[in-house]
Amino acid sequence: MKITHDFHIHTHLSHCGHPSAQVEHYMKTAKELGLKKIGFADHFWDSPIDGSLIPGWGFYAPEDGKLEHQNYEHLLRIKPELEKYADPDVQVYFGCETEYDPIHRGVAVTEETAEKFDFIIVPQSHTHITMPKDLYQPYQKHLDYMIQAYDDILDSPVSRYITAVVHPFEAVCCPYDNTILINMLSEDVMKRLFTKSAEKNIAFEINVSQMMNKTPEQIAECAQMRMFKIVKECGCKFIFGSDSHDNETHKKYGNAQLAADLLGLTEEDIAPIAR
Ligand SMILES: [Zn+2]
Ligand SMILES: [Zn+2]
Repeated sequence: MKITHDFHIHTHLSHCGHPSAQVEHYMKTAKELGLKKIGFADHFWDSPIDGSLIPGWGFYAPEDGKLEHQNYEHLLRIKPELEKYADPDVQVYFGCETEYDPIHRGVAVTEETAEKFDFIIVPQSHTHITMPKDLYQPYQKHLDYMIQAYDDILDSPVSRYITAVVHPFEAVCCPYDNTILINMLSEDVMKRLFTKSAEKNIAFEINVSQMMNKTPEQIAECAQMRMFKIVKECGCKFIFGSDSHDNETHKKYGNAQLAADLLGLTEEDIAPIAR
């Protein structure tokens, strides 16, 4: 089965996005890569939800006045570009990468706004933004935070709008090797979470940026592979994402196919929106 989708693309609208992260470029690359469906998912925190108590709130709501809040009005600015570069060969989806909200134990999007997106992805591993720093050590505390976050996302009142949990357990900007945490994750916990995720029709993302500079052998042996195999066993669907923040990341997107082949994925294993 060929992977012909990418549901995790950031543009210049994300504050961590490179100026080269332009719709025009992504449409061109999608054609070169033979992608049929691409989903734009800039970082997002819905305005009606108070996030002021999360440690990294400044990322979503910069106070220097130079950058806009990463809210719905901000994300809407991509729409004219999506229309301008529309292409009959590539289906485009307007989505967001929203955030885990540890204060309200939910997801940072209201139902009213959630309805306006074609898809929504949520990380439980932006611990560099959402988690108090004293939970980095011992490792188990960090891991427990991400397990709790996974449960909270699956249990949230907007769970039916969520397409996938992204880069699960791949703690972003972790001050130590984040695969330590993945290796510590017990099979029982994984089976419980991924079975629940399957029941809620929330897919699990294979984040290709994590394997960008790896050889096929390294991908076959990476810590994530053990987790991916359990996801598959639990009947949870997959979605692939490049997590592109610039115009270079897509060049390594061939690793998506490699991972799919290593796992023996078929069409059935892919989230319906991405088939
Ligand atoms: Zn992310
Ligand atoms: Zn992302």
